[in-house]
This record gives sequence, structure tokens and C-alpha cells, in this order.
Amino acid sequence: MLGAAPMAAPKKPNLVSVTTINQDGSRYFLHPSDVKGRWVLSRRLVGVLLIAIYVLLPWIPINGNPAVFLDVENRMFHLFGLTLVPQDLWVMFFAVSGLGFALFFGTSLLGRIWCGWACPYTVFLDHVYRRVERWIEGDAPARRALDNAPLSASKVLKRILKHAIYVAIAAAIAHVFLSYFVSLHRLYGFMNDGPLEHATAFGIVAFLTLVLWFCFGYFREQFCIIMCPYGRLQGALTDDDTVNVGYDEKRGEPRGAKGKAEGDCIDCRRCVQVCPTGIDIRNGLQLECIGCTACIDACDDIMEKIGRPKGLVRYDSLNGFSGNKRRFLRPRIYAYCALALLGAGALTLVASKKARPYNATISRSGGAGFYSDASSVRNIYKVRFMNKRNQTATVTIRLGRNTPHGYELSGAEQTFSVGPLEELSRTCVVIAPAGAYTGVADISLDVHADPGDVTISKTVRFLGPNPQSLSQPQP
Ligand code: SF4
Ligand code: SF4
Repeated sequence: MLGAAPMAAPKKPNLVSVTTINQDGSRYFLHPSDVKGRWVLSRRLVGVLLIAIYVLLPWIPINGNPAVFLDVENRMFHLFGLTLVPQDLWVMFFAVSGLGFALFFGTSLLGRIWCGWACPYTVFLDHVYRRVERWIEGDAPARRALDNAPLSASKVLKRILKHAIYVAIAAAIAHVFLSYFVSLHRLYGFMNDGPLEHATAFGIVAFLTLVLWFCFGYFREQFCIIMCPYGRLQGALTDDDTVNVGYDEKRGEPRGAKGKAEGDCIDCRRCVQVCPTGIDIRNGLQLECIGCTACIDACDDIMEKIGRPKGLVRYDSLNGFSGNKRRFLRPRIYAYCALALLGAGALTLVASKKARPYNATISRSGGAGFYSDASSVRNIYKVRFMNKRNQTATVTIRLGRNTPHGYELSGAEQTFSVGPLEELSRTCVVIAPAGAYTGVADISLDVHADPGDVTISKTVRFLGPNPQSLSQPQP
């Protein structure tokens, strides 16, 4: 199944049907040609950087946790030092909506910049899997020839080697993916213990490996064309001022062999040969185009060879290609930008408050608001402390500075330990001796935690009767 459907000659793309699907519904397997140029090189550098980031994020510790650790088992998300617990899920609203509008903003401005430059699927397919394929089977003509060649020892060997490397890379990606959910430390433990000890984790990795192998080894551009919902949004998010990869029809047409037609396009079809989704950019903006820039470099190379200016295929807006005034900033750009900034701003505000390694809340304990007798007034509070760190915290509850002189905390200072990523509740009693009691007032309680020497100060209301109604203690 993982071989390609044999074809005698490269198929000619059109606007009526998808190139990669034959009329009988079978798959037409593409073999895009290799291309060199400044855009492809820039994309490759960005791709390598992104792969490094994907792989390194679980390795970089921030506040004792990996930079990105989606700890589903303990229901905590650690994101760049910020720890989110289930109660913080509302923060995700700002994160997701902010990211969504940032994507809308980027798409309205620069079309499918995400697809071509940053989508992990494109990054791994273009900069890893296609590289492996080219390394083993050669450039497009050699691969097509290999597809059409009869079965031989060399063909079988090449295919086995290629798919063995594909599977190994897929397994590596699956392990990296799992490390985002279980942490590297535990993943390493799983690997040492063997698959039978951790059947679920092994099953997830095995399943993911198969899916990735299928996608990158066989399904390839079909995912972008058929399955990815983002591609379907393009029509709604872009307009005539959106900058996309396109063909300058005014300059290129009428096309024809060099010296025989007025246009600059010599109809060499090089831009078609390099396209990983099998389209002809000269047919206009199409849903299949992922903005990979391969056709820009391919055409620039041809233009250079025939002594014409580069940029027949380039990044430009439809207005730019038509010779109309280009408008970079426009109402929808402002709107998407404002909404993205709103989400980012709210998230930053929340993050700055939540980036603390500990969290403490103090509420009045159930029952009566206060207890009093001739000697004192007592209020009971419930202190809930959350340790978001990976190490045990030593916690002390004290009366804060705003507490009237003479008030006491039952049992003097209360010190207790809270384990890593644990939450603990403690009851604490604040006592106002009759001589010190001044009536209902706001007092403060300090929750101090180590390591980190962090003090969380909370103001609570101290309730009690009218001071006059309280008998004075006997000397
Ligand atoms: S048309 Fe050009 S930019 Fe679009 S996918 Fe094909 S090669 Fe890439
Ligand atoms: S690579 Fe350039 S010159 Fe060649 S067919 Fe494409 S647009 Fe025309």
C-alpha cells in the first residue's frame, strides 16, 4: 500500500479536479522536484529551529517543571512557569481565543504563512520526511522511475530502508509527543521498564507511530487538502489585499517559449514540478496551495537563467498582481489584531498573577461567624494552600501586620508541609482577647512558604459582638 501508483508522465493540474486524485478515485502519488533558493532555505532554517523547539521544550525546566508539561494525570498544565489547575480553565478561553485571532490576523495579512512556514505537519513532512526520501531515492525523476520500475532487490532494499527510517522518526516524534504529557523523567522510566509494564503508554506511542508513518509516508499532502479545517477558512479570512504566493499574470501572459511569446512565462512548468500539492500556481489562488514558496524559488531560478527579472511568481496581494494600490493595513487587520492583543493582554495579566509557585485562599470556616465569651472572641478560618512546585513546601501561617495588637493565632505559628503539586487545607483560629478586642475589623493573615521565601498576604474580616457587651477580663 505504501508504494506509489505508477504513472507514465506527470499529470497536468487543472481547476476542475484535484491533481492527486485520479478520475477513477485512485490516488495519484506526487513526486515534487527538489528546489533551491532563498525562500526554501529560509523555510528550512525556520523548520529546523521549530523542530529544535518542539524537541527541547520538555527538557527546559522552569520553576521545577518542564517548560511545557500537560500533566493530565495530576490535572495540571505547566506552561512556561505558569501552572494551571482545573479551576483555571477559564484562562484557556483567553489563550485559545487570543491564539485563534492571532492566526486570523496572520492569515488576513500573509495568507497561509502558518501552513507553509510553521505548521508541524509541513515542518516534519518537508524538512524531515521528504529529505529522507530524496536522500534514499533521489530527486523526482529518479523516484518516479523507481515507482515504475519492476520489483528488484535494489528497489525492495531502498523501500525497506526508507520506511524503516520513516518508522524510526515517527516513533521518535511519538515519544517526544508523549513527553509533553508524562514528562521526560517518567518517559525514560517507562522505556526502561519495558512495554508490558506500561501498556497504555506503549499503546499510545505505537498508535501514534503508525498514524505518523501513514501520514508522512503515504497520506502526505492529502491531509492539507482533504482534512485540515484551517485550509477551508482561507476564503473567509483573506481578501484582495492579503499577501499570498501568486503568479503575475499581467507580466507572464501570453506564455510561450522564450522569444516566441510576449509574456515572461516560458511555460517551462518548473513551478508545477516543484509543487508539493500538485497545482499550477498560474491557475490562480487555489485551496490546495499551502504557501510553501517552492514555486517562487523555482521560477526565480528560471527567470535568472533567461535574463528576466525575478518575481514572476512571488509574495503579493491580488491587488498588487493586478497593478492596483496595495493596502497592507485595513479594518479587518485592525480588528483581528485588537482581538488577539485583548486575549494576549488578559492572558499576560492572569499569568503575572498566577506565575507564583504557590497559591493560598482563606475563607471563613462553616458554622457561626464568631465565638465569644467573657475572655475572648474567636474567628475560625479555613486556609487552602496549593503547592505548584515539584518539591515539598514548608508553610507557616502568621498574623499579618494589619492585625490589631494583642490578637493571637491559636497554637502560635502554624507550620506544616505540603508535598509537590499537592493541595492542603488547614483550620486556623484567630483569638482576640477581651482587652485587645476592638470590634469588627479587617485583619490580615500571612501564608509564608519555603523554598522561595514567598509570603501570600490575605485580608479577612474578623467578626464579633459589640466591644461594650464583652465583659472585661479580671486583672
Ligand atoms: S503553488 Fe507554490 S506555494 Fe503553493 S503549494 Fe504549490 S509550490 Fe507551494
Ligand atoms: S516556472 Fe515561471 S516561467 Fe516556468 S512555467 Fe512557472 S511561471 Fe512560467
